[in-house]
Amino acid sequence: MMLPDVQNLIELQQADREILRLKEEIAALPKRVAAIEEKLAGTKAILENAKSAVKADEAARRRYETAIQDLQQKISKYRDQSLDVKTNDQYKALLHEIQFAEQDIRANEDKILELMVNAEVREKNVKAAEAELKAEMAEIEKEKADARQRTAEDEKQLAEWNGKRDKMRTGVDADLLRQYDRVAKYRGTGLSEVRDHKCMACQVMLRPQTYNEVRSGTQVVVCDSCQRILYYDSSHDAPVEAATVPRRRRAHPKFESSHAWYYRPSYSAFGEVFLAFINDHGQSSRRVYDTSTGRKIGDTLVREGEYRLGFPEDLTDDAIRLNGSWPETELDEWGAELPMVVLDVLQRDLDLARAEAGARHRRETEPVPSEHPAAS
Ligand SMILES: [Zn+2]
Repeated sequence: MMLPDVQNLIELQQADREILRLKEEIAALPKRVAAIEEKLAGTKAILENAKSAVKADEAARRRYETAIQDLQQKISKYRDQSLDVKTNDQYKALLHEIQFAEQDIRANEDKILELMVNAEVREKNVKAAEAELKAEMAEIEKEKADARQRTAEDEKQLAEWNGKRDKMRTGVDADLLRQYDRVAKYRGTGLSEVRDHKCMACQVMLRPQTYNEVRSGTQVVVCDSCQRILYYDSSHDAPVEAATVPRRRRAHPKFESSHAWYYRPSYSAFGEVFLAFINDHGQSSRRVYDTSTGRKIGDTLVREGEYRLGFPEDLTDDAIRLNGSWPETELDEWGAELPMVVLDVLQRDLDLARAEAGARHRRETEPVPSEHPAAS
């Protein structure tokens, strides 16, 4: 049961969400392109650095070569002078100068050699940066083309959704629409689903009366805490409960727990049953259900003390403890019959518990291998 106005609001909310998503996507695309362009600028800078390193090396090499030429001219000048010297000391001094100049030439030649070795690495750096840049340029062109195409598609969809949205709004009661818009403006959404007795948007538990009003779907109900318009979708409750059942490893029921479910293979004349115990303020209650039909057997029994003390005769050796903790209010709502989904949950947990017990039994009864196989 759901009011047509609320049903329309759910559709309107979906449209509003889609519109928001499209707007965000349209806004995000240029940012993505900008991020790639920034990366591109970084690669360009690396290439420029690599190129200027090569240029700097070339300039240094020319300087060393000029220095060598200058030194060679000096040496030939000293040689000319040495022909005209008068004393042995003057001759020695010139020889000394020539030796110095030759040493300098060798030092410059070493530096040129070093640059030649470096040049290979520098050349590689330039080539790598050029290749990177080329790849990034191609990528950015593709990204830009994609972004343009996506934006065009998004804008087309956005226009369609805006049209649908305007039409939807005319189908909702004006007061309700105002409430929806007002809350949506401050909280982002104006509508909230109710699940497990909670407003899913603000996570606050509803009062039982409010919850029942929402479930019945006969009037518009607003969350006391967040003011969102509430709705209940019965198709959503089942998978949530089913999902709490562990698929492979079974969760073990807690010993100390206010709720306890059991399975008994035989319960007087009734055969297989599920038993639900709930402790509440020093008392405990018991409900018994048929495992195949889910039908309740007998009335709810209440006794003094928590259930282990109150119902010792039910906790037989062959009773199997199961997972399950539905609130008592829910049990009351189920009335004379367990819902199919609950029955499924219990049956699956029972299967897992039995499989586990079987595995444990096999481990314990496996023959222990002989310690001395050679002796046998
Ligand atoms: Zn709320």
